[in-house]
Amino acid sequence: MPRFFAEMIDYPAACIEDTASVRHITGPLRRREGDELAIRVGLQGYRARISSVRAGKVMLEIIAEETLRDRSSRSVHLALCLFDVKELEDSLRSVTELGVADIHPVISARSSIRSITGARFQRWEAIVLEAVKQCERRTIPVLHRPEALPELVRGEARQWGRRLFAHRDAAQALREVQASDAGIVIGPEGGFTEEEVIMMSSDGFVAVSLGGTTLRAVTAAITAVGLLGCES
Ligand code: SAM
Repeated sequence: MPRFFAEMIDYPAACIEDTASVRHITGPLRRREGDELAIRVGLQGYRARISSVRAGKVMLEIIAEETLRDRSSRSVHLALCLFDVKELEDSLRSVTELGVADIHPVISARSSIRSITGARFQRWEAIVLEAVKQCERRTIPVLHRPEALPELVRGEARQWGRRLFAHRDAAQALREVQASDAGIVIGPEGGFTEEEVIMMSSDGFVAVSLGGTTLRAVTAAITAVGLLGCES
C-alpha cells in the first residue's frame, strides 16, 4: 500500500487533493469514508482515517504518527549520462527505491539524447515522487536539471565525499568502496570517450568496476546505487 503525499489543514485534519492520488484511492484501492490510509506530510508519516471524499478531495483525520525511514544513512549521488528514455525512466524508479540522494541527468559526448523538454522533466519528477510514495522512504531525492558532463565534474560533483565513475576496465571494484558520501557517474550506451575519462581522472574521480561483463547503463546505475547505499 503506498504512502500518499498529503497536506496538513489544521492538525489533525489533513487532505489529499491531487487528482491522480484521489483517483487511485477511490478507484483501484477502493478506499471509502472510515477506511485508513498511510500518508506523509513533508518528512513525517501518519496513519489517517478518511473522513470524507468530496469535490475531488480526500479529507482525513490523523490518528497516529509513524516514523519514516531511509534505506541507509549513506548519501549516494548518481550522475546518469542520458540514454534511451524508457530505460532511463525505469532506472529513476529503481534508484529512488534504492535510496539515492540526488540524480544528475548528464549530457556526455556519446549521449544519445542531447536535450529534454520541460514536459519530460516534469514526468521524471513525477516518476521519482511515485517511487517515493511506493517505497515509503523518508527523504525525497533531488532531481537536477540536465547539464553537460564537464559542468557536473567541475561543479556540484566537487561536493561529493568520494567521486567515482563506472568503467569496465577499472582496477578497483566498486564493492570495495565504503563511503558515507559518494557519487558515481554512469556512462551512456556508447561509453565515455577517452577525453572524458582523462577529464574525470584529472579532477580526482576514481574509475570503478562492476565486474567483468558489459552492463547496460540502466543495470550499471541500479547496481551502483544498490552497492554504494548498502551499509555493511
Ligand atoms: N561499449 C561501452 C564501453 O566500452 O564503455 C559500453 C557502455 S555500457 C553499455 C554503459 C555504461 O555502463 C558504461 O559507460 C559504464 O559507465 C557502465 N558499465 C557497464 N558495464 C560496466 C562494468 N562492468 N563496470 C563498470 N561500469 C560499467
